[in-house]
Amino acid sequence: MVDNQIIARGISDPRVIDAMLQVPRELFVPEAARALAYSDQPLAIGEGQTISQPYIVALMIEAAAIGPEDHVLEIGAGSGYAAAVMGRIARTVHAVERLPALARAAGERMRALGIDNVTIIAADGTRGWRAHAPYDAILVPAAAAALPPELPDQLAPRGRLVLPLGPASQQRLIRLTRREDGGLAEADLGDVRFVPLIAADG
Ligand code: SAH
Repeated sequence: MVDNQIIARGISDPRVIDAMLQVPRELFVPEAARALAYSDQPLAIGEGQTISQPYIVALMIEAAAIGPEDHVLEIGAGSGYAAAVMGRIARTVHAVERLPALARAAGERMRALGIDNVTIIAADGTRGWRAHAPYDAILVPAAAAALPPELPDQLAPRGRLVLPLGPASQQRLIRLTRREDGGLAEADLGDVRFVPLIAADG
């Protein structure tokens, strides 16, 4: 998986590659889908949600340029796979998942794997998680029509926010970087397709 789907497509950050080699993706998919765990696609994880395609996980983490001192927030923990991969790179990962059954299963996976720097709660993440802010990186693997306004506020200086924006048919992966002068620099990382980010009020 890492050679054919990640390195061959241009992901070159050695930290991302190492972390993906360390985290067993088959433990993050339902038992019936184990045979497909390393295939080049998103997979259903129940409750109408998916574990992202491996390449997309790598792309988002590389775009967020996560380093060993970083504090990371993920909004939409799903299976917990991306959080576990980031946990192998960053100092801490806080992850929010709106569906309690998924949040619980993801937390159990972290305990089973002995990953103790990743904390997952069941909550609406559209307003971030202010208690642990600021973050060096915020990843949102779920698409919103517009930028949730409270997320960039929770970025540290030089922090990166990576998220898909736009309607289902034409989402773009966007990176916003908090500049020294306090402004935000924007980069467009291309076409993507994610499940929707759903706010607490629906
Ligand atoms: N990174 C995950 C895949 C995430 S799929 C993995 O590696 O498995 C997107 C997830 O975002 C879904 O589980 C969905 O329930 C969750 N989600 C959608 N809206 C949300 C919100 N407002 N707050 C928190 N989680 C949300």
